[in-house]
Amino acid sequence: MAVQTVASSSDSTIDLGPAAALSCRECGHRVPLGPVFACEECFGPLEIAYDFSGHDTEELRRRIEAGPANIWRYAPLLPVPADVADKPNLNPGWTKLVQADHLARELGVTGGLFVKDDSGNPTHSFKDRVVAQALEAARAFGFTTLSCSSTGNLAGAVGAAAARAGLRSCVFIPHDLEQGKVVMAAVYGGELVGIEGNYDDVNRFCSELIGDPAGEGWGFVNVNLRPYYAEGSKTLAYEICEQLGWRLPDQIVIPIASGSQLTKIDKGLKELIELGLVEDKPYKIFGAQAEGCSPVSTAFKGGHDVVRPQKPNTIAKSLAIGNPADGPYVLDIARRTGGAVEDVTDEEIVDAIKLLARTEGIFAETAGGVTVGVTRKLIKNGLLDPTKTTVVLNTGDGLKTLDAVAGTGLSATIRPTLDSFREAGLA
Ligand SMILES: *Cc1c(COP(=O)(O)O)cnc(C)c1O
Ligand SMILES: [Zn+2]
Repeated sequence: MAVQTVASSSDSTIDLGPAAALSCRECGHRVPLGPVFACEECFGPLEIAYDFSGHDTEELRRRIEAGPANIWRYAPLLPVPADVADKPNLNPGWTKLVQADHLARELGVTGGLFVKDDSGNPTHSFKDRVVAQALEAARAFGFTTLSCSSTGNLAGAVGAAAARAGLRSCVFIPHDLEQGKVVMAAVYGGELVGIEGNYDDVNRFCSELIGDPAGEGWGFVNVNLRPYYAEGSKTLAYEICEQLGWRLPDQIVIPIASGSQLTKIDKGLKELIELGLVEDKPYKIFGAQAEGCSPVSTAFKGGHDVVRPQKPNTIAKSLAIGNPADGPYVLDIARRTGGAVEDVTDEEIVDAIKLLARTEGIFAETAGGVTVGVTRKLIKNGLLDPTKTTVVLNTGDGLKTLDAVAGTGLSATIRPTLDSFREAGLA
């Protein structure tokens, strides 16, 4: 097991709010809170186990509604200390849930269509939510350097969060990422290292670094702090339900990279039901991938439980994880809830980016093109019910992936005269 003990949780100074222990998703084995991510019994992934006892539902709801307009309104449900909002961090979340009537009309959705637009986060992707949890864990365990392996967005989120918190950062990315993402990650002043290889190579390198003295004192948000990091995705579930008036949507379309976000959104929805904050009713979860990196959708369509790794080749680089750690759990959730996993081509992704921009004024990164494109495809093939309330995630900002829509530009170039304007047929 990869263990890095900076502070142990028998240490009474570890205060991560309602987080009580780490528990193995496979065998249930429990260990104290610490910077570990794999079960010592079976190598399964460790998750946060909470103590939510003693919550009065109405009191909790009032407390949340009176909280700040960011993810910390849900602090009682997250692995963070109660005073988290007072510490320097980026305060992400509480992004817009846009009622997308024009897009709905275009897609033939009659039951209500919403876009949860996470491009509105501080570094313009959903990653700020997960990094904010990992940052609290890093502080609790006494780490001095914040690090990660990234397909781009995470690198920027870690760089910014570390800058704000006054920690050092050193992050690792594939060397050939989009320019927008490289600049976004570098501008915060931390170290940014390009690795000659794809994301899976970067990830393997980071796992080695964790076991090495060179990585001592380093909190890798998505490796040794992964159990904490992953919980940040629950806030998407909380916000969507609260913004719908404390109601579960019928269907949600979620992008898949490692599959962590999808898995934890399901966990968040289940918690809201258990806590009585929403009425229990069936909901369906749909996963979205790019055809050029579709290991989970391939397994779903083939009826397999095992996800066979692929070599990614797609413009949706933020989702280009060929060996997704949570793939099997995604398959399980999609099947259990009656959802599906689908993929779209790069061309369909570009079309969907333009469709969302044209209909709702939302400029999505390629990952948003994937979810919108997959939504359209799922309606066509009858897997998504257009008469039900549907939420589609846009997890990042189009300004980061301008290359995807290169060629979109001027309608005309004219002389500064009315004649020229008329000649161009624009009058
Ligand atoms: C990281 C990321 C996701 C989801 O990643 P998971 O590894 O599946 O949790 C989705 N969209 C964008 C833009 C991302 O950067
Ligand atoms: Zn286990």
